[in-house]
Amino acid sequence: MNLSNDIDTDSSEEMMAWITQYCSMFGHDYFVEVAPEFIEDDFNLTGLSSIVPFFRDALDVILDLEPDAPIKPSNVPLVEHAAELLYGLIHARFILTKQGLHLMAEKYEENCFGSCPRYYCEGMHLIPVGRYDQPGIETVRLYCPNCNDIYLPSSSRYLNIDGAFFGTSFAGLFIKMFPEIEKQCKERSKSQFSLKLFGFKLNEKALCGPRMKWLRQYPKTPSEIAEFDQCEFESPAVEELTHEEDQRDTLDEDDKDDIDDDEDDDEEDEELQDVRMSAGESMMSIAKD
Ligand SMILES: [Zn+2]
Repeated sequence: MNLSNDIDTDSSEEMMAWITQYCSMFGHDYFVEVAPEFIEDDFNLTGLSSIVPFFRDALDVILDLEPDAPIKPSNVPLVEHAAELLYGLIHARFILTKQGLHLMAEKYEENCFGSCPRYYCEGMHLIPVGRYDQPGIETVRLYCPNCNDIYLPSSSRYLNIDGAFFGTSFAGLFIKMFPEIEKQCKERSKSQFSLKLFGFKLNEKALCGPRMKWLRQYPKTPSEIAEFDQCEFESPAVEELTHEEDQRDTLDEDDKDDIDDDEDDDEEDEELQDVRMSAGESMMSIAKD
């Protein structure tokens, strides 16, 4: 009995897919397992062949396929590295799909990405985010939807994970996809800690005063909230006005021509009416005749 059990576990370890193995590695717990069907669809890999070296070999490694030609032993570490890069870039695309978003939501609920270190965020769960979509620029950061700030992961084990493996679009889409997150943010207090000296608040202009406080301020009065809601989806009214003014400035010279054209149009209209009138009269005269 024991023997057969041993054989089973051995075979399951051997059969462990590359993706499962990669995601279960130390420090890779931010990753979700990308569905092989997603990787097999060439459309989802558009443009990646120009970024990732040894693209075909790396793809075969990820999908546990036998390569067409054996890889040179000297290239094996390069191909393995390319496979990790390719998987990360596919991962950034996969987590934008419905399936990927739901898998990430499970991790988010389990608090796999950690909590916001800011005291007044009351342990708000963080979302992994990259500041750049190009690999090799910056490592992964964690976004707090409550204070709208990004933080470094608390453990150094995540400091070699590229931010591009999560991308710039994920956090925004994730929050819009799951409105519960916005609800959680609304329930949390928006209070900020401010220093006091013997009960008196420090002046804004003091060196140790609450400078840059406006960065974390939220609208309070109904008019402020209305302005905020408007600004979230459209450009503020001030910008629109300046834009119109710019247009007016550029049109000033053409305006005169336009007016002339209008006058011409009027004259033409009158001429047309005259023609019609005369035609009508002639018709009347014909009828009379
Ligand atoms: Zn926060």
